[in-house]
Amino acid sequence: MKRREFLNSMFAVGATAIMTAGCGKKEIIQYDGEVAKRKFKDMEVPLLGFGCMRLPMKGKEIDMFEFEQMVEEAIRHGVNYFDTAYMYVDGKSETALGKALKKYKRNEVIIADKSPTIFMHSKDDVKKIFEEQLKKCQTDYFDFYLIHNINKNTIDNYKNFDMYNQIMDFKRQGLVKNVGFSFHGTPDMLKEITEENTWDFAQLQLNYFDWNIMQAQEQYNIVQSHEIPVIVMEPLRGGVLCNLSDKALEKLYEFAPNDTPASYGLRWAASRNNVITVLSGMSNLDQMIDNIETFENYIPVTTSQDQQTEELASIIQSEGEINCTACKYCIELCPAGINIPAAFSLYNQYKLTNNKNLFAVYYDSIPESERPHKCIKCGLCKTNCPQNIEIPELLAKIVQLRKEIQA
Ligand code: SF4
Ligand code: SF4
Repeated sequence: MKRREFLNSMFAVGATAIMTAGCGKKEIIQYDGEVAKRKFKDMEVPLLGFGCMRLPMKGKEIDMFEFEQMVEEAIRHGVNYFDTAYMYVDGKSETALGKALKKYKRNEVIIADKSPTIFMHSKDDVKKIFEEQLKKCQTDYFDFYLIHNINKNTIDNYKNFDMYNQIMDFKRQGLVKNVGFSFHGTPDMLKEITEENTWDFAQLQLNYFDWNIMQAQEQYNIVQSHEIPVIVMEPLRGGVLCNLSDKALEKLYEFAPNDTPASYGLRWAASRNNVITVLSGMSNLDQMIDNIETFENYIPVTTSQDQQTEELASIIQSEGEINCTACKYCIELCPAGINIPAAFSLYNQYKLTNNKNLFAVYYDSIPESERPHKCIKCGLCKTNCPQNIEIPELLAKIVQLRKEIQA
């Protein structure tokens, strides 16, 4: 029996493959097998990468106990690619990853980190932050190092602080093995940066929803015209493609009856040519086990499935969701401390279910100080949103919806 079939049968009787023992340690049903790998230069890279953006939490702190168990389980299945960033989990992701990987030999794991373009205030910051990142991750080098989130608001820092050349210097010193960038700008901007510099890889937001709707295909084609290998981020759009409406699910099962929404989204992304790895921001062991299952038994999507996926994306689009990927970049700049992605997530859920009472319950579960009605409409969040979402306007709409339910 495959792991997913096993899990499904266990879910059917109200249990899971992850049992909590008396001491609190979770016992994982043991499975053998490794995820599919892709060759990149002299490396074997797992097709599933562990994104460390949404780690398991205990209150405001990372739950190191569960995180270390996840890392152990990941590595046992060949998922040894770990992607972190300076700003992830309020700056705590790198340190947690450093701790969790300490017991492994350095050459057994692949570490990707990112130079935080938005936090650069001078040329010197590039080196200063890089050195801080090496320390936090407890490593002497990064296998993959990216200029993080190049977009209309960060491109000046990228240029003015000579980030590319400084990072290429790190590469010459052996402190970085591969230099790339992650991107949330326009196709013209992408053309410019891929034409003016040579890159080992590019990290792009690739998922079947964004493919046509958000110019992802156009961006992918630009990168491919330079034969730059791709690392996929947001293959499930921050979880949006895991939570499909009944109508969208019905469509998915017409052409992919053996998939879950998550497994199909991941398989779709991995099926693009020249993809090195697909990052999944896994927050718990259940998600990890499901993702590992997908890539242990990896089968690319067929041409026919590809065509039908366009119809699925149209259904999802027509359901009017806010295109938030829950990256939390907006929160960094919000003086009022609004939990913007939480508000958008519950609004999207409401649009799927039309359940106003549930919307009100979830709205009220956001801490009072982080609720949308505290927004002072300064607009700072918008400058850091890779999806160009009209955040203040939408927050006002959500506040209005909550008021209507009260009335
Ligand atoms: S517009 Fe509102 S949500 Fe955006 S940064 Fe300002 S206070 Fe925060
Ligand atoms: S609103 Fe934009 S910046 Fe904020 S979490 Fe969503 S996608 Fe990210």
